[in-house]
Amino acid sequence: MLSRCTRLTSSPVALEDLYGLVLADAVTAPESVPPFENTAVDGYAVRSSDVVSPPATLKVVGELTAGAAPGIAVEPGTAVRIMTGAPIPEGCDAIVMVEDTERLEDVDGVVVKTSVPAGAGIRLAGSDIKRGDVLFSAGVEVNAAMLGVLSSCNVRSASAHPRPRVAVLSTGDELVDDGSPLHIGQIRESNRTMLLRLVADAGCESVDYGIVRDDEDALERVLREAAETCDAIVTSGGVSMGDYDVVKLVLSRIADMRWMQIAMKPAKPFAFGEITAGTRHVPVFGLPGNPVSSFVSFELLARPALRSMAGHPATTAFRSYATVILDDDIQRKSDGKVHFDRVFAYWHQDGRLHVRRSDAQASHQLSASAQTNALLEVPNGNGMKAGDTARALLFRPA
Ligand code: AMP
Ligand code: MG
Repeated sequence: MLSRCTRLTSSPVALEDLYGLVLADAVTAPESVPPFENTAVDGYAVRSSDVVSPPATLKVVGELTAGAAPGIAVEPGTAVRIMTGAPIPEGCDAIVMVEDTERLEDVDGVVVKTSVPAGAGIRLAGSDIKRGDVLFSAGVEVNAAMLGVLSSCNVRSASAHPRPRVAVLSTGDELVDDGSPLHIGQIRESNRTMLLRLVADAGCESVDYGIVRDDEDALERVLREAAETCDAIVTSGGVSMGDYDVVKLVLSRIADMRWMQIAMKPAKPFAFGEITAGTRHVPVFGLPGNPVSSFVSFELLARPALRSMAGHPATTAFRSYATVILDDDIQRKSDGKVHFDRVFAYWHQDGRLHVRRSDAQASHQLSASAQTNALLEVPNGNGMKAGDTARALLFRPA
């Protein structure tokens, strides 16, 4: 899947639209930050040699605020009142914090009560960023602090991969999503609500294609339409061995498909393929319909591929695994599959990451999974014991 889900073509993106996108090229700084030498504190601009044996009384010859030009010089025996961010006046080599001074209003003077080394309180030009520095490399996702950095040195746009547009649809004659009373046999649609959000959380734009009935023509129409305008398609339901598994039937006809039985539980049935739309090959992730299977297969299989399309390298396309301590016995029988149990990971007072597991692990029991924050990898075999170490994939840092 990763080899078929390559990064989308990058283009220049304005600063205000960069948040959450992945940079396609390294960004270098066009300007230095700070652009000029300035004061880090509110206080008095002095010559450090004037205050070597405090207290020292200096004549206050002016005032400099942030945004002012430094038109005053600090001659021997004088000081300039200065506010954070103001440029350093000529002759000054240190700033004394206002807390270490006492103003003598009547004589335009100040008593400096401490000595300061040369350079004290002064932020040098370029001490944050030097012009030409590589700020960020390709493959990095833009966060809020990075937007601040880019603004600080006047980067107004950068080359980034677009957010993949991902169509999300669910299939099933039994599904109801309009709040109407359920007839026997019907259930409330839930996967699409969840998947639209998971897709967005993965850094993509999710596009709601609604519920499609178990009807081949209707499904074909929706899939072709989605392929025209989207970069990828996520479907739920209809990929297993039932007679009305229409996703399987339709995609077998219109797409280049890989049907999979993956040796994992939940989410054994899974489909991946591509629909050709013009010159583009649009990947389709056919998730199984059981809600927990949809969730787990999205996390483990679809999400890394979608994030690769968004420009992420493997390190950030995949979530990280952690070594965890089991609080409970994990009972299972050998069935040739790796089990991914939904668990709650937390920092124990022993300083290690522990996991608790609920018993409701069947693939229709989404409620027991909804507040978990990790998938525990339970290798094929006869289970594990409380106190054992294991691997868990973390949805979010514990
Ligand atoms: P399927 O994969 O279509 O055979 O569906 C497997 C199970 O998941 C069935 O019990 C379906 O009713 C249920 N299911 C399928 N799609 C959804 C959905 N979007 N929301 C909730 N349950 C679903
Ligand atoms: Mg179905």
